[in-house]
Formats: sequence, C-alpha cells, structure tokens
Amino acid sequence: MSPLFKSLAAGALLATAALGAHAEDFPGNKPITIVVPFAAGGPTDRVARDLAEAMRKPLGGVSIVVDNAAGAGGSIGANKVAKAAPDGHTLLVHHIGMATMPGLYRKLPFRVETDFDYLGMINDVPMTLIGKPALPASNFKELSTWIGQNKGKINLANAGVGSASHLCGLLFQDAVKTEMTTVPYKGTGPAMTDLIGGSVDLMCDQTTNTTSQIEGKKVKAFAVTTNKRVATPVLKDLPTLQEAGLKNFEVTIWHGLYAPKGTPADIQKKLNDALKVALKDPDFIKKQEGLGAVVISDKRAEPAEHKKFVASEIAKWTPIIKAAGVYAD
Ligand code: ASP
Repeated sequence: MSPLFKSLAAGALLATAALGAHAEDFPGNKPITIVVPFAAGGPTDRVARDLAEAMRKPLGGVSIVVDNAAGAGGSIGANKVAKAAPDGHTLLVHHIGMATMPGLYRKLPFRVETDFDYLGMINDVPMTLIGKPALPASNFKELSTWIGQNKGKINLANAGVGSASHLCGLLFQDAVKTEMTTVPYKGTGPAMTDLIGGSVDLMCDQTTNTTSQIEGKKVKAFAVTTNKRVATPVLKDLPTLQEAGLKNFEVTIWHGLYAPKGTPADIQKKLNDALKVALKDPDFIKKQEGLGAVVISDKRAEPAEHKKFVASEIAKWTPIIKAAGVYAD
C-alpha cells in the first residue's frame, strides 16, 4: 500500500472511530487512558494520577488509567496521543515541553498547534535545583565554588531533549558558564533514584517530585527556579536562583490536558467540565499545594485560553532555544 493511501486509510479509520462518539453516552463504561510522556514515579506522572482520581467522579465514576509512554523528552507520548482515535478515551497530560519541543526538534512527528484539542490547564509548578547527598556544598554559594573547582567533571541528569529538566539544565549551564555532561533518563522519577544513589551530581526538577526527597534529606536543595520563593514549608527557605545571583533566571513548569484533534466538541466540553471540577476539588488542591504546585484557578482552565497560553510560551521559548543553538533530530 502506498504511504499516501496508508495515511488516508488511517485518517478514515480515526474519523469513523470519532463518528458516533457523543457526549450523552460519553464516557460510558469504556475506560479513559491518560498518556503520560515520562516514566512512572516522576512529577508528570504524579499530577496525572492525582488528576485521574479527581476527574473520575465528575465523569460518572469511569475508570481512568495512566499509560506511561516515556522517551525522547516527552515527544513519544505526545505523538501517541496525536495519532490516537479522537473519541475522548485517550488524553495527554504534558508540560512546558509542548512549548519547547517545536524549537528543539528539527523534525517532530506532530504539530503542537494543530494536532491536539486543548482541554484546559492543570497547574503551575516551580522547579528546584538539587544535588546528590554527597556533594560537599550546602548552599548555592558553596555549590558555585564546587562547580568552579570541578569544571569538565560535573554531570547533570535530565528527562531527555525537550523535557523541563533539559530546558532548566540548559539555562543553568549557560548562567554559570559551565558545560556539564547531561545524562538523559525516561523521566526524572528514575533519574531521582540515581541522584540519591550518587551516580549523577545535579538535576533540576519539579517540586512535585523533589519536595518529599528534600524533606527526607535524601538530596541537597540549593534554590528554586521561580522568581518568587515557594511558600510550602520545606521549600520556603530556599532562595530563588535570581536571589542567588543568576540574573533573570526564571522557569515555571505548567501542565495541561489535551485530546487528539477532531474530538467531538460535546465530548471536549464534558472533559473540560470534569477538569474544572477537579481543579476545585479540595483533596486535589491540598495534594498539589503540599508539593509546591499551584492549581489553575484563572481563565487558563478554559480551552481557548490554554491554547493561547501555549502559543505565547512557544513564542517565548523558541528564540531562547534557537539562540542557545541546541537541536535534536
Ligand atoms: N520532570 C521531568 C522533566 O524534566 C518529567 C517527568 O519525569 O515527569 O520534564
């Protein structure tokens, strides 16, 4: 079969799958799958699992399962959803990578702007700069000295090109004028295990993954990446990287919910309604706030605003990435 015919046939199949999918009987008994484009046990996985629990009730108690389609900095999972049947049963939770992948990848197998229906945003999450427990530094000043003394020997974990930790790591290396060896993982869940074990030195990661490790003194924490300190008790004494002397350093991670393009409008509405119920759920808010995240309470919970926000983030990050001269194939 010619490639063109194959893609036409696949398109027709997807359209047939979407046809007949209507909100009155959605979701029915058929489970909903939320694809997480990173490994289990990391921060994107954490938010997706908490969200699945909070959206279950407003969707009539349907089972919502998480599928960790990890790899290539989050692009494999995003592509899986871009190509899935647009019937509301396959969704994607993704982060700032939706805005950095278009600038980072020479060839992305999907288009962030046109291959998804935007269902609303979930949260904003600071990152923390953390280190292995054996690092001979207990604050940012000592860390800077250690970095200066160990140029060429430092390694920095991340979740692959296009991940949040990758972006933060790029900005950090640039700010401290020190190139580090990056060690990519399928998510910062597994990277955290190696950081705690001491086989990698440093990592930037969302507070939703680092708060409990900082509290348990399993890793050293040096700073937060937001432009304001984070109020969560374990994090409140950490300086921002700007306070620590890295001028203009600011990264805030955000997560959103997506469906494949072509999902019937009434099903999108039902999913957005369920998301908005989840965003007001006191249990969901408490869990997220305890981990330093801020649940979306503004207009970005609306699909059109979500789409506008992602477009503004693409416009913000693409020139920064291009100026850094980093690309992935
Ligand atoms: N925190 C990861 C990142 O750097 C993703 C994850 O494992 O959730 O993008």
